[in-house]
Amino acid sequence: MDFQYSYQKSSEEFTPNNNKQPRKKKINYRKMIIIMVALALLIFGTVYVSVDLMTTWKKHGLNTDMPIHESAQNQPHIDVSPTPTPKADENQAAPLKVVYLTFDDGPSKYTNEILDILKQHGAKATFFMIGSHLNRHKDEVKRIVEEGSYPGLHSMSHDVNKLYKSGGSSHFIEEFKREQELMKDIVGFAPDLIRAPYGSYPHVDEEFRGDIAEAGFRMWDWTVDSLDWNLPGKPDTIAEQVSHSIHRDLEVILLHEREQTVEALPKILDILHDCGYEFKAYDSNEHVIANFSGDSRL
Ligand SMILES: [Zn+2]
Repeated sequence: MDFQYSYQKSSEEFTPNNNKQPRKKKINYRKMIIIMVALALLIFGTVYVSVDLMTTWKKHGLNTDMPIHESAQNQPHIDVSPTPTPKADENQAAPLKVVYLTFDDGPSKYTNEILDILKQHGAKATFFMIGSHLNRHKDEVKRIVEEGSYPGLHSMSHDVNKLYKSGGSSHFIEEFKREQELMKDIVGFAPDLIRAPYGSYPHVDEEFRGDIAEAGFRMWDWTVDSLDWNLPGKPDTIAEQVSHSIHRDLEVILLHEREQTVEALPKILDILHDCGYEFKAYDSNEHVIANFSGDSRL
């Protein structure tokens, strides 16, 4: 637009001058005007080509935002570093809030990633592992213990029919005894904390719970269900679910070894930290009761 307007203006000035001025001056003016028009063409031509190129880049997605976008994407990688703040909270007089993160159904291909993220945040957790997975992931199981997390038991089969519908508690207890032996061979001690697959309600009744206690086990359910297993591809929703559910001074959060859980974990850890929670792994010397029935035997 600017280009056309300026060009026409130059032509209009040229025409009247051409008719009125004497020959000598006319030649000088003509030369000057020709040079000016040529210069104007050169300048506006350059501007036009630049604008046109930028329009083309934007149309084809090659916009100038690209390098900025890349650096924005790289930023989180720089920012992710061990959080130095939790120790400041420990010195405060506010009542201690404790959260036990629990990861079910491993060990798996996600165990190392989960441990990496926990380490970056200075957090520990409790892993309720399936006995039939243990031998395939011995290194991960050892790493869980080496890094201060707890190797909990979650049955050999995870099969609802075998565990609960075979009549009584005997098959259930037998599976956990077998898993305990396997775990002892890998980590060097026999963990006694179990989690009943699918939770203790409704299959594990009072008598059943008595049998579990008599066999020397403790049993944990949870206080917060993240619903992570049912939210593939929605890590933000998992984090929100946790964020909306926490309100007690002691929370036991149910998570699973799933891809979406790995993706949600940094955010979950940040939320819990910001709410003043201290991350703990289960410790049999500081046992807390966390079963749905509030059964003090477990
Ligand atoms: Zn499970």
